[in-house]
Amino acid sequence: MPDSFDVVVIGGGPAGYPAAIRAAQNKLSVACIDEWKNREGLAVFGGTCLNVGCIPSKALLESSELYHRLREEFAVHGIRTRKGGIIKASTQGILALFKAGGVTPLQGHGKLLPGKRVQFTAHDGSQRELSAKHVVLASGSVPMELRSAPFDGKYILDSCGALDLDAVPKRLGVIGAGVIGLELGSVWRRLGSELTVLEALPDFLPILDQQVAKEALRQFKKQGFDIRLGAKVTGAKIEGDAVTVTYSDAQGSQSLTLDKLIVAIGRRPFTRDLLASGTGVELDERGFIKVDHECRTGVEGVWAVGDCVRGPMLAHKGKEEGVTVADLIAGHFAEVNYKTVPSVIYTAPEIAWVGLTEEQVKASGRAYKVGVFPFLASGRARAMEQTQGFVKLIAAQDDDEILGVHIIGPLAGELIAEAVLAMEYSASSEDLQRTMHAHPTLSEALHEAALAADKRAIDFVNR
Ligand code: FAD
Ligand code: NAD
Repeated sequence: MPDSFDVVVIGGGPAGYPAAIRAAQNKLSVACIDEWKNREGLAVFGGTCLNVGCIPSKALLESSELYHRLREEFAVHGIRTRKGGIIKASTQGILALFKAGGVTPLQGHGKLLPGKRVQFTAHDGSQRELSAKHVVLASGSVPMELRSAPFDGKYILDSCGALDLDAVPKRLGVIGAGVIGLELGSVWRRLGSELTVLEALPDFLPILDQQVAKEALRQFKKQGFDIRLGAKVTGAKIEGDAVTVTYSDAQGSQSLTLDKLIVAIGRRPFTRDLLASGTGVELDERGFIKVDHECRTGVEGVWAVGDCVRGPMLAHKGKEEGVTVADLIAGHFAEVNYKTVPSVIYTAPEIAWVGLTEEQVKASGRAYKVGVFPFLASGRARAMEQTQGFVKLIAAQDDDEILGVHIIGPLAGELIAEAVLAMEYSASSEDLQRTMHAHPTLSEALHEAALAADKRAIDFVNR
């Protein structure tokens, strides 16, 4: 095996492995180093996303939704088995892609040394020094810990622990009403847990368009989520088989006794033992690897992508950065459009958005118009009996540019792709209005929302 490569990628998650595959497609010699070991102790590629993130959480969300609907037809045990199978297929798939593409997989730890050299330590402890023309750092992120409620792996859990519970906790608490808290809270609520969510901020999902956030809060409360806003956690004590959380809110000091507590207050970049001294690669004050808009670290030939750099911690954002860097290395044109990164929260109803919220547009001072179309007026949503929510489109008053699209409702995560494409190609809301949409589909709701922005909706009264 050679010790010298055109590109060495450190990290084989959704940012690192696509960078390696694209670099190989660009006819460069590539190695991808990853140190992840799964619960069985096997070395696997795929990082957080495939092993303990996007894929297992969506497998559980899908199963728990079906269970919720069919109640007695599935066993919880069957749900866990299905999740394991999906993870295995996904992680093995990456090795097959590496083999087909000509990427050298190296399972163990990678550390950047000065002069674009990489120290590789295999899982058996043996070491090699690699040299590369380019190094791509894709070391990802890990859950943040709350000092007042530290993880113990049994009662106080991070997202990995929350995906792996072997029984449904009767009383489940979640600290943090963010994406993970709501998604994993949904899973266990649907399987029967009493769910209490403690959120430090006074507002619910402040990053969302507030019309959507209001509707989401209404829907989650209807599903029995007990969401307590403005709750500052002061401590967590494990006694016997329970954990008691203390917190303060507008009413004063409170306490809550739970069978399990999930802490989901955000993630932080992971760079432990990644950089030897003298590499010149810098971290910012929050621990992210410093990069410019093209993911260059400032050290010639050293790049960084994914959760370990600024921007939203999303698998698809990391993937776009990875393939963009691999194309830039090969001398091709490539760029990431950070204005059109879609976000999806996979609850029921799903929530998805791209671009600016109405609050952000208002603050920018630009004159705008809004079109809203409720799923209640969609024939397909009625046929599916999933009529909660709406599509909201915001466009500029002057040139009709689409500024943001916000969806809460059935398959919102799929529907948002059309809005992303429209914005990527600088479509106006009129362009969407003049695009034919098949009937009866959920996508007609986006079409009608665009029409509603000019008070020309057909299937709903224009206001
Ligand atoms: P990671 O996926 O963290 O991969 C980094 C890899 O690098 C790991 O395998 C790690 O072991 C390895 N590594 C680190 N340092 C070294 C080193 N020095 N040597 C060798 N290997 C190293 N995002 C979405 O877009 N959609 C979702 O639905 C979604 N759901 C999520 C659900 C949960 C529960 C969680 C926790 C996250 C979810 N995310 C989701 C976020 C998503 O998982 C991350 O944004 C994504 O995994 C980041 O990819 P990455 O490649 O940057 O890092
Ligand atoms: P998050 O940033 O989405 O939410 C964290 C929440 O915890 C926030 O509402 C925050 O105000 C709250 N919080 C922070 N400190 C607190 C405290 N001391 N007490 C109570 N509440 C507190 O973070 P997350 O949910 O942990 O997710 C981490 C990352 O993973 C996110 O950046 C997200 O992008 C990614 N992720 C994405 C998806 C998806 O795309 N569907 C799913 C899961 C995770």
